[in-house]
Amino acid sequence: SGSVNNDDLKARIRTIPDFPKPGIMFRDITTLLLDAHGLKTTIDRMVAAVDGPVDLVAGIEARGFLFAAALAVPLNAGVLLIRKDGKLPGATIAEEYALEYGHDRIAMHADACAPGARVLLIDDLIATGGTARAAVRLLRKAGAVVTQAHFVVDLPDLGGADALRADGVEVRSLVA
Ligand code: AMP
Repeated sequence: SGSVNNDDLKARIRTIPDFPKPGIMFRDITTLLLDAHGLKTTIDRMVAAVDGPVDLVAGIEARGFLFAAALAVPLNAGVLLIRKDGKLPGATIAEEYALEYGHDRIAMHADACAPGARVLLIDDLIATGGTARAAVRLLRKAGAVVTQAHFVVDLPDLGGADALRADGVEVRSLVA
């Protein structure tokens, strides 16, 4: 989490037990989004943690979109959408990842980024890392250079950030 103390932001994230199913502690960032100062502080601190120039900020559906767009503006970057497969209108490439039971697929427009584009990956939260790691594989398949992924929340016990680092990605989050 770096040297900045983010307890002010942590206090604005709500925990909803047993959502979407029993045993899950859902970390709800909608309360952070509702707070004007909390939202601005979140974006400012995420921007400050970005390492070097980026061409595109890739956001993961759906909450990742909000942070990706807000970061892209001060970073002078575009926004690339990573969506559940079947939602994007143009020709797509997709990547599958394992869930607890079964699997899921994420997709991006095949022509969304030029080979060599420097892409910063963004989501609200990293848990097991399954989603973010699939997004990195997808972006790399498209020719992107993905060296950093930033999250508002990390659930470190689930090991996702470490797995993503092993894939060669710098991982940062504001709150654990
Ligand atoms: P994972 O692929 O396990 O890293 O899960 C990350 C994705 O699922 C992100 O898009 C999160 O928004 C969502 N997610 C997973 N676990 C939680 C949780 N405990 N609270 C809120 N969102 C979660």
